[in-house]
Amino acid sequence: MSRICFKCNFENQDDYDFCAKCGNPLIEGVQPNNFVVVRAKPRVNKGIILLSYIVTILLSWSGFLMSIISKHSNFGFFAFFGFFIPFYLIQAPFREIRIHGYIQLFISVIGVVLSLYVLFK
Ligand SMILES: [Zn+2]
Repeated sequence: MSRICFKCNFENQDDYDFCAKCGNPLIEGVQPNNFVVVRAKPRVNKGIILLSYIVTILLSWSGFLMSIISKHSNFGFFAFFGFFIPFYLIQAPFREIRIHGYIQLFISVIGVVLSLYVLFK
C-alpha cells in the first residue's frame, strides 16, 4: 500500500508522513515546517518572591512599625526604600513577576503613607 498525496498525487511510500515530492502532509494533523514556539514560563522562585515581600513590607512600613514598637517615628523617611523592590519587579520581562511588583507597590504606598503620617503627626 502506498500513500497518495492529495495535493500532487505523487505516490509515496507507506511509511512517509509527508509527500516526498511536494512536502504536503499525508496524514491529518501533521503540519509541515510548522514549529509551535512555546514561550517558556519563567520559573518564579517562590522563596525569592516571598523574601521580596518581606523586605518591601519591612522597609516601607518601617516608620509605622517603629512608631508602634518604640515611639521612634523618624524612621519614616527610611520607608521610601520600600519602593525599590516593587519598581524593580515592575520592570521584569514576565507578567508573573510584574504582578508581584504591582502588589508590592500597593503595599509599600500604604506603608509609606502610614510611616509619613506618624512622622508628621
Ligand atoms: Zn505531494
